[in-house]
Amino acid sequence: MIRPDFITATDKGLFCRAGNFYIDPQQAVHLAVISHAHGDHACPENEQIFATAETAAIMQLRYKKRAGGKFNLFIYGESFEINGVKICFHSAGHILGSAQILMEYEGVKYLYTGDYKLQEDPTCEPITFIEADVLITESTFADPQVKHPDPVEEIKKLNAGPQNILLGTYSLGKAQRLIRMINDHCPQRKVLLHHQILPITKLHEQFGVQLGPYQPYDRKLMKNPDQNYVYMVPPLTFNSYFKAINVSRAFASGWKNLQTNNDLQLFISDHVDWDDIIKMIEQVKPTEIWTVHGNGLHLKNYFINQIPIKALN
Ligand SMILES: [Zn+2]
Ligand SMILES: [Zn+2]
Repeated sequence: MIRPDFITATDKGLFCRAGNFYIDPQQAVHLAVISHAHGDHACPENEQIFATAETAAIMQLRYKKRAGGKFNLFIYGESFEINGVKICFHSAGHILGSAQILMEYEGVKYLYTGDYKLQEDPTCEPITFIEADVLITESTFADPQVKHPDPVEEIKKLNAGPQNILLGTYSLGKAQRLIRMINDHCPQRKVLLHHQILPITKLHEQFGVQLGPYQPYDRKLMKNPDQNYVYMVPPLTFNSYFKAINVSRAFASGWKNLQTNNDLQLFISDHVDWDDIIKMIEQVKPTEIWTVHGNGLHLKNYFINQIPIKALN
């Protein structure tokens, strides 16, 4: 029988009472099961961390000595147990090392998606579909109005014009996906990386991810405005360059409000849009859906009288 309080939202993050562990805690805890290394899912200084090797390596690169106490590493498909709850990571297709967390307890399967996407992305493992009784899904873009365009068509926008491009991006995951996409689909473009994006990019290559050529930013290179460079910078740097001249500005994101005031609109997201959430639900075949990150209201209306849906936070 499904326990309605198997996972609850607390001020430290999602808590599994039966297993006495937290999922993607917001503050350091004793037992932390971590879906992926983005800052809003992986905080430093947990005592025991359960994660994939890639997630652990990224956390160690970012947080150094504060990364946490003991790291327990598991590959996709490998089961382990915490206080009687059987746990298994499955690829989430979101970024390198990202995992869905499947939990089994009293014969019931609870699947926490973490962040996930169905779009193809050669810089991480594709998503694995798992059937479960309860689907705990992120609902960031759970709105029928949100339809991500084809990412290849989006990246091809960078082929226009001879002008250099200033491209704002998150440093982890999105940046590496963009490097690879630019190299695959914009062959005359040359990628320059902000120094904050370099270490995490090298780490991807250490894990065998093929990205193609890129080079560290060099002020001299961007001086000539028509050199076909794409200079990739993290969000804060991007915002500080709002007056940059002789470049086209673009910011890669699924959010409309991050596209305003830019020269090019680049809708590339590492989260599922409405159609892909529905596809995911069809694959998982849950009897209940619990939502996190977003209100799940549209899902509730869509599945009315079919699947009970509740928002966890
Ligand atoms: Zn994420
Ligand atoms: Zn997230």
